[in-house]
Amino acid sequence: MVKYIFVTGGVTSSLGKGIIAASLAKLLQERGLRVTIQKFDPYINVDPGTLNPYEHGECYVTEDGAETDLDLGHYERFLNIPTSQANNITTGRIYQTVINKEREGAYLGKTVQVIPHITDEIQRRVKLLAQNEEFDIIITEIGGTVGDIESLPYLEAIRQLKRSLGKDNSVVIHLTLIPYLKAAKELKTKPSQHSVKELLQAGIQPDVLVCRTEFPLPKELKDKLALFCNVDEQSVIEALDAETIYDVPLLMLKENLDKIVLKKLGIKSKETPELDLWKKFLGKLKNPTREVHIALVGKYNELQDAYKSIYESFVHAGASNECKVVVTPIHSETLSAENTVSKLKGFHGILVAPGFGGRGIEGKLEAIRFARENKVPFFGICLGMQCAVIEFFQNVLSNKDANSTEFDSSSDQPVIDLMEDQKKISNKGGTMRLGSYDCKIMKGSLAHKIYSKMEIKERHRHRYEFNNAFRDALENGGMSITGINPQSNLAEIVEIKNHPFFIGVQFHPELKSTVENPHPIFVAFIKASLSHPI
Ligand code: GLN
Repeated sequence: MVKYIFVTGGVTSSLGKGIIAASLAKLLQERGLRVTIQKFDPYINVDPGTLNPYEHGECYVTEDGAETDLDLGHYERFLNIPTSQANNITTGRIYQTVINKEREGAYLGKTVQVIPHITDEIQRRVKLLAQNEEFDIIITEIGGTVGDIESLPYLEAIRQLKRSLGKDNSVVIHLTLIPYLKAAKELKTKPSQHSVKELLQAGIQPDVLVCRTEFPLPKELKDKLALFCNVDEQSVIEALDAETIYDVPLLMLKENLDKIVLKKLGIKSKETPELDLWKKFLGKLKNPTREVHIALVGKYNELQDAYKSIYESFVHAGASNECKVVVTPIHSETLSAENTVSKLKGFHGILVAPGFGGRGIEGKLEAIRFARENKVPFFGICLGMQCAVIEFFQNVLSNKDANSTEFDSSSDQPVIDLMEDQKKISNKGGTMRLGSYDCKIMKGSLAHKIYSKMEIKERHRHRYEFNNAFRDALENGGMSITGINPQSNLAEIVEIKNHPFFIGVQFHPELKSTVENPHPIFVAFIKASLSHPI
């Protein structure tokens, strides 16, 4: 029988529920259990695909083409198993399902209400992952903070679920903050007591408290929390600020979070988790022998979360090359023909990021020109690949008018153009080319060397593509298309010769890099950057 773990958050947002959930899942997985994690987001957008990256960080795309919260990226990076549409649900999607059913007449004349209809739909979505009996444990993370109006239906759904699942079949972990008051030199428990009260008001008694803290929690403080919040003393877990998110599974292991949860769920498993691979990765991460400097040229640089998976892919690739990767965000709007050399000359490698819209494109083209002409390792992702094509036409093939119709809809040299099946689409939500597609790689290419195979699958999120009408001009001019989608002929990878490392990809390799399987393009890019002299 599948057992359930619910993770709620109190006091403030951004406490790292996703990392705690992923860390616990890792420990359980390495004890031989089959675990998955799902996230409920209490906002009304049907999915985060229509959100500006400044709002909510990166939009993570799953194999099956769902546009999801970036926490799913952490789940995949930690667990090394793919997630799917069912792993991320928003309030918007819950309501959409219920309203569609109402329009079909499925409620047979009943008044449709938050309880039971919305809460039933939430419960159905929780249980959906249990359907194929693929998992022993499902961890459900409730986004937002307990006490928010938006979270109430989720808490009510958990209360009902806990009741119907019966004793020993579910556990509620409440993640909370223990602030340190500098003036009083004291750690304070009151905000946590209040947030547990909020949970109790919703009919939920947490089983475990995970306490985020800057300083170790003294025993008396743990005892006090246990007493006031009505949990066992050993179920008050300290979650100290960590040097890297990849330390958290080991910190949670030290605190016995996995043992406590398994005991409460009555599950028997291996005595200890097998974390050899994880520890080996951490060892490499923390003992780099060299340092490499990468410029990340993008336009959402103010918010690190906007390029979350790219940053994490560099962490994985750095560990695999036993070097420290220092990534410096460069705002493409600040790059011009005059200052690009001075701004980029100190880097071993340049990555041009994905993105949407015309803002900052000139700077991206300058960065690519600089990398191409000076033989600096270059890696373009999605929009970065499209810009590499435009730059090549403009500066190498002297076609100054070459452009993407995304930035100039009336361009008469549309080397990047809207995909045919996108032309009739007007709705913005969930309508891009999304998810995993095949790519066939050309023998002898850089891509072939990197992947060591000729058939790959990668994930996508775009509306525009390389315009094949310009293919001969591109290839005769010296840029090769070395990866193609066999069904649609769409260009997936471009490269130039006579350059130590120049690759642009239409897909998003950063979405598939995990601790166990660092993405080969990131690994190769870092390796090439390490041998670039500056
Ligand atoms: N804006 C481009 C497109 O839609 C690139 C998208 C991206 O970088 N994810 O094709």
